[in-house]
Amino acid sequence: MRYRRFPHIDDLEVSALGLGCMRLPVIGGDEAAIDEAALDSMLRTAAEQGINYVDTAYGYHKGRSEPALGAALERTGLRDRFFLATKSPVWLVESSADWDRLLDEQLARLRTDRIDFYLLHALSGERWDKAARLGAREFLERARAAGKIRHLGFSFHDNLAAFKRIVEGFGEWEFCQVQYNYLDRRHQAGDEGLAFAAERELGVIVMEPLRGGALARPSRQAREAFFKYPTPRMPAEWALRFVWDRQEVSTVLSGMGSADQILENCAVAEAAGANSLTRDELAVIDEAARIYRAKEAVGCTGCAYCMPCPKGVQIPDVFAHWNSAAMFDAAPGSDGWYLQAIAGAGKGGNACVGCGACLPKCPQGIAIPERLAEAHKRLVG
Ligand code: SF4
Ligand code: SF4
Repeated sequence: MRYRRFPHIDDLEVSALGLGCMRLPVIGGDEAAIDEAALDSMLRTAAEQGINYVDTAYGYHKGRSEPALGAALERTGLRDRFFLATKSPVWLVESSADWDRLLDEQLARLRTDRIDFYLLHALSGERWDKAARLGAREFLERARAAGKIRHLGFSFHDNLAAFKRIVEGFGEWEFCQVQYNYLDRRHQAGDEGLAFAAERELGVIVMEPLRGGALARPSRQAREAFFKYPTPRMPAEWALRFVWDRQEVSTVLSGMGSADQILENCAVAEAAGANSLTRDELAVIDEAARIYRAKEAVGCTGCAYCMPCPKGVQIPDVFAHWNSAAMFDAAPGSDGWYLQAIAGAGKGGNACVGCGACLPKCPQGIAIPERLAEAHKRLVG
């Protein structure tokens, strides 16, 4: 296993591959029924392979991931072999006392007296503003001083401007967790967000390196682009190598579902170093990305010049979800994030009133109101 560092954290080396606990094996298709024997086996394999970072969250697996992981770490005696990461469910916080109550509950669920990496979960610009108003900064410093948490960070889903604002909104951040892969270089934090974090010496944890598994099952044309390269590699390996190539990245989380998958990904982690991809290899990845992009529904670059919309429509996000649905032939109604966090929060394509304020600001000349209506229809069905 290769190990990497967090710029702000001395004397700590983290495995290049971390074990994510959001897609654990379950029994009978019930997301809440985590297969304990399989989880034990995964933890043992991960430890044997040198993985030292395990990541969960209050809400994963309908709230069962933390208790299952805590019990498994106790059964296997492996708690001290891992840096344990979990996330505060910021959306459940309504008063400053809720922060401490939730953290104490998480410590009990995880059967531990300290959480090594503690994140505010799924921050957007708006969610960060609310968290800050409710005393998030003071809570994090208080909990760290009490020894309940060690390192402070946040996970992120919003646009680049919001990312920068959150990074600069708290001087004690030590790391961030972002969605990043060869198709998300201009989406959410993207390439520029990685560089911004690195300049400020924040460790970067990458989630969704395979876009929820989709990049492991590419279209026929994208697969052919990969198989033209003389060294045979599976599409998932190309996607993981792309992320590890970035020197800003401290660790990459993969939601692995079996011990065999851990072994496969560890073999790739062993072979993939920062700045190790050749020009030819990067060209292969660019070609696969180009093939995906050719299926995009709208030529939005995510620049956000059209923002803010007076009605709160998240224009670049709506288009990014629409493009994603087009690239992966997703069924209408299958994008839960769009349904709940965007349209459900009144920021979807259907919230556009057609005022036209955004139109002159778009360098791509996109007919934004019409395309938003199309996007919403395609995403909702
Ligand atoms: S046209 Fe629609 S998306 Fe554009 S600014 Fe007006 S309400 Fe917002
Ligand atoms: S200005 Fe145009 S290209 Fe930029 S994010 Fe808005 S819609 Fe997309």
